[in-house]
Amino acid sequence: MSKHPTVRAGRGGGVANILILGGTDEARRLAAALAGRDGTHVVSSLAGRVRDPRLPVGEVHEGGFGGPGGLATWLVERGIDTVVDATHPFAARMTASAVEATARTGLPLLILRRPGWQAGPGDDWRRVPSLEAAAALLPSLGERVFLTTGRRSLPVFAGLDDHWFLARSVDPPEPPMPRRTEVLLSRGPFTVEGETALMRTHRTDVLVTKDSGGEMTTAKLRAARELGLPVVVVDRPPAPAGVPAVGDVPAALAWLDGAAVPGGTGGTGGTGGRGHAG
Ligand code: NAP
Repeated sequence: MSKHPTVRAGRGGGVANILILGGTDEARRLAAALAGRDGTHVVSSLAGRVRDPRLPVGEVHEGGFGGPGGLATWLVERGIDTVVDATHPFAARMTASAVEATARTGLPLLILRRPGWQAGPGDDWRRVPSLEAAAALLPSLGERVFLTTGRRSLPVFAGLDDHWFLARSVDPPEPPMPRRTEVLLSRGPFTVEGETALMRTHRTDVLVTKDSGGEMTTAKLRAARELGLPVVVVDRPPAPAGVPAVGDVPAALAWLDGAAVPGGTGGTGGTGGRGHAG
């Protein structure tokens, strides 16, 4: 459902019509940076699952497109020239859908994906390939778990009846979830002091996180380091091959202005017309 009237773009000349697949801080910042530009119209899309989402400036499309076919149709109907996939690094289905839909329609696609986190001195991180692997590792690490992998990940940990979980999420999780779970509804950014106090108060033995990257949720990692706690870090799904990708908003703006980036052959000048190898 669009909240604003549709703006059609004239290909190769008129308004450059950019779709930002969003739900991240980077997506909001990119929309804000493009908002004041002459000759550019931006529509940002959100999955529509968070009850009270942080909204980007400008036009917002809420809800899925109906898979790659639905997205391809939507892109054509809306006269979109360029797609920027600025979804969360773990939103793999949406990214795959964007790759397929832009390949079908011949539209340029840029992936804006913040870099992952790197362990530093004093960190005790255990990298695992999946949430299931994180659950399998927990019995060797401790009983009291601070779980920050999102409300939809709780079913994966549901069988761990010997553990106690502090599960933090923006919206309430739905069952199944571990038998001994305390839910903490909260949205970042968080401070190191706050995270340290939280982990101390709940006497947590281990932190579980996705490798989301970015600054907004790093405080828990620093707090775990200071408390000497192990951290189970779930690796990201791989980025699609052959698609131009950048790690921050300035680089995305440069690509839109025509700069070359890894995985692609340069920007669109804002008017599109260039496909990709996805
Ligand atoms: P996902 O599993 O990759 O996507 C599932 C489906 O939700 C997609 O196939 C698509 O439906 C719809 N969808 C997802 N992102 C959308 C977007 N930005 N605009 C319109 N439709 C979207 O995604 P997810 O992991 O559930 O994440 C959903 C949203 O939350 C994303 O926008 C992501 O940026 C944000 N987010 C995710 C995480 C995370 O850990 N996964 C964390 C923070 C924020 P159709 O197939 O019908 O098009």
